[in-house]
Amino acid sequence: MSNWAEMDRYLNRTVVQPDDALDAAVENTRNAGMPAIEVTAGQGKFLMLLARIHGARRVLEIGTLGGFSTIWLARGIPDDGTVESCEFEPAHAEVARRNLEGAGVGHKVTVHVGAALDTLPTLTGPYDLFFIDADKANNPEYLEWAVKLSGPGSVIVLDNVVRGGAVLGEGGDDDVRGIRRALEILGTHPRLEATALQTVGSKDWDGFAVAVVN
Ligand code: MG
Repeated sequence: MSNWAEMDRYLNRTVVQPDDALDAAVENTRNAGMPAIEVTAGQGKFLMLLARIHGARRVLEIGTLGGFSTIWLARGIPDDGTVESCEFEPAHAEVARRNLEGAGVGHKVTVHVGAALDTLPTLTGPYDLFFIDADKANNPEYLEWAVKLSGPGSVIVLDNVVRGGAVLGEGGDDDVRGIRRALEILGTHPRLEATALQTVGSKDWDGFAVAVVN
């Protein structure tokens, strides 16, 4: 039995220090019957720090859910910066908008409702930072769109690239195949320099990939 979840709680209260707005966002998301698949607080703050370190002003997120990672991303950009976030489910987008308002970052965020693959062709780049965390089967397409909507130095983050090791081997469902294909693209794309890191914590064993656009 691992202590990963307990260690996450310790790190949250000692270092990350999430606040009431973030706790409320998670609670609202649960109360709306939405899945508990948002990033951890530590991962969310990593996204915020990445945005700040990079000096990001325009962020594109694919997969809003309840807006938990969206809040963190919005906190990592200046007040006149923007986060655009694509969400398939109208009900999820509604919860996210309330959570974003509750966290005081609603003015920085636009939630686009609909299939991301329909929304992405309507957007105008370049974005400084991308966070791809939606249905994994479409990860290869999302990644290609991110590259299209990027500029030199843009940063792309993909979540859930390990899935408890399910990505190993050659089988798996459409999601696992989508993750594997996206990792292959990250490793070979002429415009991308990428790495992937494994994580453990309250969401068990998973990982994320980070790429910079050349
Ligand atoms: Mg995720």
